[in-house]
Amino acid sequence: MTNSNPWSTTSPETVDLKVNGLHRLSIVLAFEHYGRPETIRFPLVLAHRGPGPVVLIFGGTHGDEFEGQIAVSNLCREIVLGKVRGTIGLVPFHNVAACQAGTRLTPRDNSDLNRLYGVPGGEGPAHTIARFVEKVLLPQADWVIDLHSGGAAHEFVPSSNLQARTNSAELASMLDPLLAFDAPYAIVFDEVPSTGQMPHAGTLEGLARALGKKAISSELGGAGRITPTSRTVAEHGLRNLLAYIGVMASADAKRPEQSRSQLLLLNRPEHYVACKTPGRFVPAVWLGDEVNDGDLLGVINPLLDPASAPEPIFSSCAGIVAAVASRGLQQANNLVFYIAEKMDRESARTIGR
Ligand SMILES: [Zn+2]
Repeated sequence: MTNSNPWSTTSPETVDLKVNGLHRLSIVLAFEHYGRPETIRFPLVLAHRGPGPVVLIFGGTHGDEFEGQIAVSNLCREIVLGKVRGTIGLVPFHNVAACQAGTRLTPRDNSDLNRLYGVPGGEGPAHTIARFVEKVLLPQADWVIDLHSGGAAHEFVPSSNLQARTNSAELASMLDPLLAFDAPYAIVFDEVPSTGQMPHAGTLEGLARALGKKAISSELGGAGRITPTSRTVAEHGLRNLLAYIGVMASADAKRPEQSRSQLLLLNRPEHYVACKTPGRFVPAVWLGDEVNDGDLLGVINPLLDPASAPEPIFSSCAGIVAAVASRGLQQANNLVFYIAEKMDRESARTIGR
């Protein structure tokens, strides 16, 4: 496909993922906003060649996370139909309006697209996109890859991610694709309801899994920008994962057993560390550092009185610093560190203990 290939204006109900060839679709999604009819154009690049898995790849679910938007856009241009076995659907800008604004939420109605999946009703652009994806695209798919990073508020170690309970069949069965991404880290998020962090309900990954699809995501950096490292991990990971799934050949793809990924687990309230007072955030540890229970992680310098003592932030568990807040100014109760436990691959394959 060359840059001269035109985009075909398409209505959502006619989208068929299994039409031979390479296609650039500009899907027109209609909705009402405060009683007025409006439309969004939702770009989708499709590559279909013969029988094989059907894989949907999303970037830009949050518009301030750039690795997925770039990696999926690059694949939109570079994909070679002769290397495809099955179907690849590329969604570079999942929340189109948020991607254009560079914001996490849809600018006009402050909707988080990744909390609207499986949540019926609602109106506005983000609800309209979620209904289109869940009614038209997901039923046709076998796999969903949703590329996230830390956004403007946080930075993560570059990692593939899986939402799963520990000791579950789900984790055991998805461990190989999680490792096949071959990022420096692979993080398992087990929901911790008391923190409100990383809920599984409402997310694209959560709904895809509930519908019996295989789904995987990532946290590839953050701080509201892209770096050479995060871009490389995103592109390398995506190509490895597509080779593992068997939908796109790649001569130098790593197999799961060759993966460099250190497996990490976030499953307890103490893994999520908040500051108690507002002020200037001064981290003392950084991404990938190993910390012990009781270690000083950083301080909050007081907002108004430079002579009063900073508030120390201590770890209440041992682990690896998996994410750090990226803004210098923090409000009380903001999450400033994610401390993840190391997990070995053998225990991740253990079911029911
Ligand atoms: Zn995100």
